[in-house]
Amino acid sequence: MNLLTNCTICPRKCGVNRYKEKGYCGATNKIKLSYYSLHKWEEPVISGTRGSGTIFFSNCNLRCLYCQNKKISLDGYGKEITNKRLGEIILELQGKGAHNINLVTPTHYTPQIKKVLLSVKDKLKIPVVYNTSSYENIGTLMMMRGLVDIYLADLKYFDDSLALKYSGCKDYFDIATMAIDEMYRQVGKYEIDKNNIMKKGLIVRVLILPGHKRDAKEIINYLYKTYGDDIFISIMNQYTPPKECKYPNLLQKVSDSDYEEVVNFALTIGVNNAFIQEGETALESFIPDFDKSIV
Ligand code: SF4
Repeated sequence: MNLLTNCTICPRKCGVNRYKEKGYCGATNKIKLSYYSLHKWEEPVISGTRGSGTIFFSNCNLRCLYCQNKKISLDGYGKEITNKRLGEIILELQGKGAHNINLVTPTHYTPQIKKVLLSVKDKLKIPVVYNTSSYENIGTLMMMRGLVDIYLADLKYFDDSLALKYSGCKDYFDIATMAIDEMYRQVGKYEIDKNNIMKKGLIVRVLILPGHKRDAKEIINYLYKTYGDDIFISIMNQYTPPKECKYPNLLQKVSDSDYEEVVNFALTIGVNNAFIQEGETALESFIPDFDKSIV
């Protein structure tokens, strides 16, 4: 069955024929990439010493209005490539010493990515990381079973009214938590090698939004009660305010005191496996320069 002719790959369920038109995500039937490189700014067990082989896909099915990668996710910046070229890029990144292949925002291209991963499976010796907003269909994630080793998943909102306001979906928490359950079913408890590099497992990212530290605490509480220390929780302070936004709170950075309060909350409830960002991580230098991209 060709999933692209009546696209219901993600929970938006647009039903469009992507050979002829675009749905909510803005993607056609062809893979579009904006950038790939060895990236050193992921969690330490992902970036290691040599970097994560990061591949940024253009377009997005969630489209948060504050997205720090707006140029590629909302504006669709990038270049269309063939499946064969994606396979070459994956092996090129492996050849450059990447600790893993990190597929960033892959959801809307999963059928194509699955074919590519199957075609390079015999040559690929490093883990595959699926880096997602978690606004995913279970069926789509099940297609990736056995091909993905590490899920690097966001859990963005506890309160669905925030999801509706900022990401245009009213069912985010239920959908995303069911998706994260499926990810955990696939990869189980994490494994980290003697060089402190993750081989398999689940990392859930919690990006604190300005004015919404309570929501972040609810998310952490949910994750810890559900998975304990079988997973890692990455508590992020790198929220980057957009230049314009109709919600004034989103034009602010997250204060140090709010970030500390959320981190202390996590420690107080017993979280051991947390990644915490220190110093000025909310800098634009963390955002790849897509203008210099070469695909
Ligand atoms: S992948 Fe894109 S076209 Fe398909 S259902 Fe999701 S948003 Fe719609």
